[in-house]
Amino acid sequence: MARTKEKESYRSRLRGVGLRHTMPRERILAYLDRKNVHPTAEELYQGLKRRGFSIGLSTIYLNLHVLREHGLIYEFKDPKGETRFDGWTEPHAHLADLETGKVVDVPLKDLGLDREAFLQEMAAKTGWDLKDFRLELRGTPPAKE
Ligand SMILES: [Zn+2]
Repeated sequence: MARTKEKESYRSRLRGVGLRHTMPRERILAYLDRKNVHPTAEELYQGLKRRGFSIGLSTIYLNLHVLREHGLIYEFKDPKGETRFDGWTEPHAHLADLETGKVVDVPLKDLGLDREAFLQEMAAKTGWDLKDFRLELRGTPPAKE
């Protein structure tokens, strides 16, 4: 039941931006739609393979490009300069570790930041018609005891 619903949601997300539903697109969206998952294209390829879904690396690149162009996933560079992909739908900020390059997700609500209110406030300040924003905080995590 949950599985069917999940499938339907990726299908409708794809359709919502005018994209055809394909299995590679659904698998990529499902893989990326998780907390703290920001693979490179190569890691995504390996990860899908481990889940029993082999798609060629060039198909992965092609679909990552299409999904990014349509705003379904986010592409960014980690502190080490690696290109990574993010498809977690919960509005969140990134905590980027300057020493290891590791990127951790923090939901905006855990930071006390209301996405809509912040966008409206910035729109009022700048006069821009703002649709979205990304927040990346860079530094080092607290030392482990
Ligand atoms: Zn993220």
